[in-house]
Amino acid sequence: MLRKVTDTTLSPQFDELFNFLFTLILETGKKTVILIHSYHNIYRRSPTFRRLFNYAVPSLTEKHKIKIASTIQPYSDFVGKVIKFPDVCTMLLIPQYLSLPGQPENFSAIRIYLHEMLHILLNLRDPTLGAGSI
Ligand SMILES: [Zn+2]
Repeated sequence: MLRKVTDTTLSPQFDELFNFLFTLILETGKKTVILIHSYHNIYRRSPTFRRLFNYAVPSLTEKHKIKIASTIQPYSDFVGKVIKFPDVCTMLLIPQYLSLPGQPENFSAIRIYLHEMLHILLNLRDPTLGAGSI
């Protein structure tokens, strides 16, 4: 039976849950604090993200890795259970996208973190590979 995606409860154990579900792998010298803090903030501020996270947690049976590396292509590997993010320096090299008014804009780290996390939580892939996968 499908569970409904309605639970917006703010779990006080978010950080523990996050650390239980995800292993952070960083290149030498990088810090994990900002990443966990970003997800914690999204969880605290967004009832929608809370609903999805609370819904997905019981079904995430295997630990995922979050890898921060010198890649300009963030992606979620469903088979290998890895989310790969560009590091802060590489983030600046990602091509801009056109916003709704047609202005070129940089991808924000938060936007990328959220996008890739939603792939894992919802077990949904991008419809096409390439530019649409960011
Ligand atoms: Zn994607």
